[in-house]
Amino acid sequence: MKRIYFDHSATTPVNREVAESMLEYMTEKYGNPSSVHSFGRETRKAVEEAREKVAALINAAPNEIIFTSGGTEGDNLAIKGVAYGNRKKGNHIITTAIEHHAVLHTCEYLEKQGFTVTYLPVDEHAMISMDDLRNAITDKTILISIMFANNEVGTIQPVKEIGQLAKEKGIYFHTDAVQAVGNCPIDVKELNIDLLTMSGHKFHASKGVGALYVRRGVKVEEIQHGGGHERNMRAGTENVPGIVGLGKAAEIARRDMDEKVVFIKGLRDKIIAGITEKIPHIRLNGHPEMRMPGNVNFSFLYIEGESLLLNLDLKGIAASSGSACTSGSLDPSHVLLSMGLSHEVAHGSLRVSLGRGNTEEEVDFFLAVLPEIVERLRSMSPLYGSAADFKPSNPCSSCHHH
Ligand SMILES: *Cc1c(COP(=O)(O)O)cnc(C)c1O
Repeated sequence: MKRIYFDHSATTPVNREVAESMLEYMTEKYGNPSSVHSFGRETRKAVEEAREKVAALINAAPNEIIFTSGGTEGDNLAIKGVAYGNRKKGNHIITTAIEHHAVLHTCEYLEKQGFTVTYLPVDEHAMISMDDLRNAITDKTILISIMFANNEVGTIQPVKEIGQLAKEKGIYFHTDAVQAVGNCPIDVKELNIDLLTMSGHKFHASKGVGALYVRRGVKVEEIQHGGGHERNMRAGTENVPGIVGLGKAAEIARRDMDEKVVFIKGLRDKIIAGITEKIPHIRLNGHPEMRMPGNVNFSFLYIEGESLLLNLDLKGIAASSGSACTSGSLDPSHVLLSMGLSHEVAHGSLRVSLGRGNTEEEVDFFLAVLPEIVERLRSMSPLYGSAADFKPSNPCSSCHHH
């Protein structure tokens, strides 16, 4: 069976050119970049060239890039680093209710350390309100951490306005741009971003490598102690093959950006139009316009996202849902609940995230099999057909309640 990969927000395949660039930094050029001999010098050079490419992708300076092990570490370093480095100025952080857990759990940890955190609500499209943000700022606020684009529903936040406001108020602005980097053009100078997290495996580099952009002059305290690597901000021998691959992926992303965005948007809009036309009782989750080029997220009323996933998987199609059964919990996504969806509607959600390698034929196949699967699952649902009894505000029986 031909397999179709529609889960690029979870991870992406490593580009072949990227993988090839990495190989010689494992087998032949294996020096430690901190060594003074020729083996060390050649890997140091490769690391610094990668830094230039990563910086160029977001219009930063090379010395504003710190290599990390990925998105989770970048978020931790940005948020804890600013919190600990600036606690004399204040102890208040503003973030949103729909962040990735790498941000949310870091903020919750900091609350236990004596910081106070405001979690901004979002509207039905997962968008924050600039008024809410403005009103949340106090003279103790040291950091605003708001994601660039949401990983589940694809909503893109008003990053430029947030950056402008943060700059006016003298507050640092961090954005988790893990979903956005490589998928939409980003200029950290134009957007007034002070710190930005990216992760290699979300844009065709390998897992376990990423970068944090820290604008020159931003005070960040290191959270991992050891050698003086990465300008004392991130101790540990550099992941040279990973970093070389990240540089290559950044170079390719920058080169192909415009073409890629147009292509992926085309597939996305075809799926959105196809589902809207063919399937009743659905809800498009996320913002209709301000959304990631490759993100599709729908709720299908009266069915469970997990059953939908399993049935698609039987057809060779890999997608994702808004409840985290696989991680041992049936709780629906905090993002969908924050948008005001009931438990039932949140449970019936499906995310399709597209990438460069997807084709029109794959989209056509998906649109051909999906309506039949949805209809079959609905025909087995006790709620379907007796829609009068269906009260979307009732929590469903399969959820764990807190
Ligand atoms: C994937 C992801 C992360 C985590 O990145 P890792 O490199 O997997 O640790 C953080 N934030 C967002 C928005 C993500 O999509």
